[in-house]
Amino acid sequence: MVRWNKGNCELSLMLLRQLLLRPNLLQFPSSRTACDLTLKKYDVIVVGGGHAGTEAAAAATRVGAETLLITQQIRTIGSLSCNPSLGGVGKGQLVREVDSLDGLCGRAGDWAGIHFSILNRSKGPAVWGPRAQLDRDRYRQFIQAELLATPRLTVLEGSVEELLVSDPILDQPGHHRVTGVRMVDGSQPISSSSVVLTTGTFLSGSLFMGQTTSPGGRFGDPPSGAGLSHSLKEN
Ligand SMILES: Cc1cc2nc3c(=O)[nH]c(=O)nc-3n(C[C@H](O)[C@H](O)[C@H](O)COP(=O)(O)OP(=O)(O)OC[C@H]3O[C@@H](n4cnc5c(N)ncnc54)[C@H](O)[C@@H]3O)c2cc1C
Repeated sequence: MVRWNKGNCELSLMLLRQLLLRPNLLQFPSSRTACDLTLKKYDVIVVGGGHAGTEAAAAATRVGAETLLITQQIRTIGSLSCNPSLGGVGKGQLVREVDSLDGLCGRAGDWAGIHFSILNRSKGPAVWGPRAQLDRDRYRQFIQAELLATPRLTVLEGSVEELLVSDPILDQPGHHRVTGVRMVDGSQPISSSSVVLTTGTFLSGSLFMGQTTSPGGRFGDPPSGAGLSHSLKEN
């Protein structure tokens, strides 16, 4: 991600980076959902395609891991929160760290940014917060284009219901190893030697309307089943 200081040099750098990023967007790929994932063993399964999950999946593939990202809706990958901004006080530091590890959000921010600023400029550099306001559609398109074209990554649309673990390890009582996940649709388990859970804010979420309570998730998303939450408590 470019520095958000004023100055022609940095503006040119950002424009150059936007030009370099452009070719990825010209080939907007479709999902590469595999037909039968149960026959394969993945190195990493990431559950949840929010901000955390997309970076986790991309990071796993960058170190050579055969990776499966399972998320409830592929079309919401890269969707921004209510306020379409990236960074800010605290988060700006995080974005730069992810960017320095070749993560996606910094590059997507450069591509989709419409206004760049430094918060807290009147105070000392320790509390400055780089923040970009973003074009919601461009950000989502960039993240989806990058992610769905990533080598060694399969993206599967669906809900994970259960985390699968081995029997207790003999010489380490009470310790289990993760072995994969089971989907809510009852299909065969999918095997993996590690599972990253990035199911976000709405795992086992409830909606309260007057006296009525029902399972719920982010607006437009199905509820994230209580099954996964239960399996975490069990294990
Ligand atoms: C009401 C509200 C308003 C907010 N407003 C802002 C804001 O304006 N600006 C801001 O920066 N932040 C805001 N936030 C915070 C921001 O949304 C979160 O910090 C951010 O979304 C967390 O990212 P995440 O990847 O951890 O989780 P999420 O973005 O929640 O992503 C989790 C993903 O996991 C998927 N998932 C869940 N369960 C399963 C399952 N069982 N199987 C498969 N997939 C599953 C979900 O579909 C989702 O795609 C807001 C949060 C809330 C609740």
